[in-house]
Amino acid sequence: MVSEQSAADMFALLSDESRVDILRAVAVAQSEQNPSNSGFAPLSFSDIYERVEIDNTSKLSYHLGELAGTYLRKVENGYTFTHAGEQIVRFILAENFRQPSGIDSIETEGMCLFCGETQLEAGLDDQYFMVRCPSCEQPVTGYIVTPAQARTRSGAALLESLKRKQATEFSLVQEGICPECGGEIQTEVLDASEQPLPSEVPVSYFTIDACEACLRRYSGPLTYSAAFRPPSIAFYWDHGVDILGTGWWELHSYLRDGRWSAEQIATDPAEYRIELRHEDAVLRVFLDANARTTRTERVRGRDHD
Ligand SMILES: [Zn+2]
Ligand SMILES: [Zn+2]
Repeated sequence: MVSEQSAADMFALLSDESRVDILRAVAVAQSEQNPSNSGFAPLSFSDIYERVEIDNTSKLSYHLGELAGTYLRKVENGYTFTHAGEQIVRFILAENFRQPSGIDSIETEGMCLFCGETQLEAGLDDQYFMVRCPSCEQPVTGYIVTPAQARTRSGAALLESLKRKQATEFSLVQEGICPECGGEIQTEVLDASEQPLPSEVPVSYFTIDACEACLRRYSGPLTYSAAFRPPSIAFYWDHGVDILGTGWWELHSYLRDGRWSAEQIATDPAEYRIELRHEDAVLRVFLDANARTTRTERVRGRDHD
């Protein structure tokens, strides 16, 4: 039974290069199919045999038998991917198992949350993309970068891809969906004054967002949690600001100059009011104890108390 197979058994199946070649061949064949077709036609036994270097058909039969049920599904006309097959073959094709290539330091404007410096430096730090402050030497923000992401991009294009990937993934997290695995995200709101944060950091509340399935964790100021939701994205879009195309290190100025603020307005159960300002317009986002949106309202500055 596939469901009883251990992860170690599952990976042991790929210890033979021929099997990895078979998965690649199926992916390449599917990508060559008519792109207007919805879904993928399975690849037949003979088509796979033509595409891989395996001595004879009985060897291919053996390897397909081993892959079937875990990485491939045997259907009427041949073989297609299981979910695991799809995931692993994309990982292999993108060569995301390699180390990201080194990149030159990129100068970028934004704001250091610690000291207010606006000229920042971005670069790779192990597998992490890091923006650092040259004045106080604090890390301003960091996010996972994939080797495939850094391989074909540099400079401004790499920064742009980073901003969009972090922003869209963080907006998914705000809807309770894990960008890594699709599992459920549970969010906890913490009071920054009870945490060991430097006092110069202008954050009153922040969230810990954790996936129960794959254990991926995200974290950010509660104001950012509110900013990456549809009403806030629309509010800023209406004012000419593309939140999903803005890097966290660029958003830090909103916190430091007080345009974004959060306060707790009820306890037991907790409720929070986040105010996001643009000139004289204000969007209020109300969040419950788990940082889920309960309601929003747009107010003009003159109505704003
Ligand atoms: Zn600094
Ligand atoms: Zn997950």
